[in-house]
Amino acid sequence: MPTAHQEAGEAQVVVVGAGFSGIGAAIQLRQAGFRDLVVLEKAGELGGTWRDNTYPGCACDVPSALYCYSFTGNPGGRRVFAGQREICDYLRATACRYGVDEVLRCGVEVRRAVWDASAGRWLLETTDGACTARALVLATGPWHCPRWPEIPGLGSFPGPVLHTSRWNESVELSGRRVAVVGSGASAIQLVPAIEARAAAVHLFQRTPQWVLPKPDVAIPPAVNWCLSRVPGLHRAVRAGQYGMQEAFVYAFRHPPLARLLQSAARAQLRLAVRDRELRRVLTPHYTMGCKRLLSSSTYFPALAKPHVHLHPTAVVAVEGNEVVGADGTREASDAIIMATGFHIGELPLAGRVHGGDGRTLADAWRGGREAYLGTMVSGFPNLFLLLGPNLLSGATSAVTVLEAQLTYVCGALHHLRREGAASLDVAPSVQASYNSAVQKALRTTVYNAGGCASYYFGPGGRNDFCWPWSTGRLVRLLSRFDPAACT
Ligand SMILES: Cc1cc2nc3c(=O)[nH]c(=O)nc-3n(C[C@H](O)[C@H](O)[C@H](O)COP(=O)(O)OP(=O)(O)OC[C@H]3O[C@@H](n4cnc5c(N)ncnc54)[C@H](O)[C@@H]3O)c2cc1C
Repeated sequence: MPTAHQEAGEAQVVVVGAGFSGIGAAIQLRQAGFRDLVVLEKAGELGGTWRDNTYPGCACDVPSALYCYSFTGNPGGRRVFAGQREICDYLRATACRYGVDEVLRCGVEVRRAVWDASAGRWLLETTDGACTARALVLATGPWHCPRWPEIPGLGSFPGPVLHTSRWNESVELSGRRVAVVGSGASAIQLVPAIEARAAAVHLFQRTPQWVLPKPDVAIPPAVNWCLSRVPGLHRAVRAGQYGMQEAFVYAFRHPPLARLLQSAARAQLRLAVRDRELRRVLTPHYTMGCKRLLSSSTYFPALAKPHVHLHPTAVVAVEGNEVVGADGTREASDAIIMATGFHIGELPLAGRVHGGDGRTLADAWRGGREAYLGTMVSGFPNLFLLLGPNLLSGATSAVTVLEAQLTYVCGALHHLRREGAASLDVAPSVQASYNSAVQKALRTTVYNAGGCASYYFGPGGRNDFCWPWSTGRLVRLLSRFDPAACT
């Protein structure tokens, strides 16, 4: 349970959100000696992404030995790529093992945060009353707000309409004609998982995706036994998987190499899909890596089945029980599933976090989201973003990045404590020159030069999602807090 001090509404550190980032923050900060801390989570339980995305087939696409905290692996994992339930169980078990439960308050939403310069504190309004914090860590996640496309007539569709991230298990798909809107990361997991029970699946694809084979095999119990008992083995496997993911990241910085990888995706498509026309509409015209890298060995075989139909068109309307494509396709359906992803990078709290001069984060980001090392934003003292702008790429494990950020946050808080200073704010000039270097380096990467539109680009037309260099370089930069960057 939170301490009496915290119950009274004061904490040294308030962490908002209890997904991978918030749980990791609680563990690393407590281990670094910041025990006066509280984690506020608006949902009824922890888990974030892995609590919310319960659609059939949901799993990680970075191997699990890498997609977990470095300090505790997932012994007993059943597959190379863990499924949603397993990841959720892992997060619950880790939170319990490291005492996060003691500082976690679920069912409390942070509504507003205002920096009080005279007190050197953040004043928070929550659904459970007001509280203050010396430092505020926003761990509210980039993949949190589902994107519902505005489709005329959708509201009067007579059957159920679901979003992959707000699944409803009571909706029966057996024997139904199911329309799936979108062909990204969620769709390629969902379609193979539901097609066997559906009478027909109609997949509406706006843009084809490069899909590499996914080596998702079961892990024999003996291997798990060794992983949890042989010293250093888990770390070695993790290092190997890190190296493999970094090879992709390297290729994404060198588009000719990324184009070489496309032959593996083409070969898998040719083996699974005999129909030449279907292959044609499934082949992208942009360079691999321009959108998030996808992997699946079951997606193309599912699309080759006679009751699964790919419609290479955007959905423009729903009329009665018919889903209408821009090319005139009309498909009568019993259920519609939106596999349309998220408002990536749109931090709902951004409009309600007020910095030193009263401006909100949303005001500061009007020209595009930017931060220093994706973590600190000039004008917002003692505020730390986890998985903030320009930190990720199409193949990195988010956990590697957020752990590195937490090393930086701990360094900043140690500095505050040591120096007895009230606040730390990154200098505007430091933030500006850092971001111009990031944008310059992005220009030649496949993310910017690959010839596609992607969620890596914010509303201002700037890539505010991707990190342009190696993950190792990011980890090195975040490994030491640099007080000289701050005012
Ligand atoms: C289907 C899917 C598969 C993915 N697979 C991978 C993968 O293989 N590898 C990878 O690296 N990444 C993957 N991701 C990205 C994934 O989101 C991140 O890896 C990671 O889980 C993000 O964790 P987080 O804690 O930052 O955010 P989240 O998990 O989104 O957690 C944020 C939490 O903040 C809470 N919250 C939000 N606002 C408030 C508020 N105002 N007050 C209180 N609480 C609030 C939310 O309820 C939520 O619990 C995947 C994402 C999805 C959707």
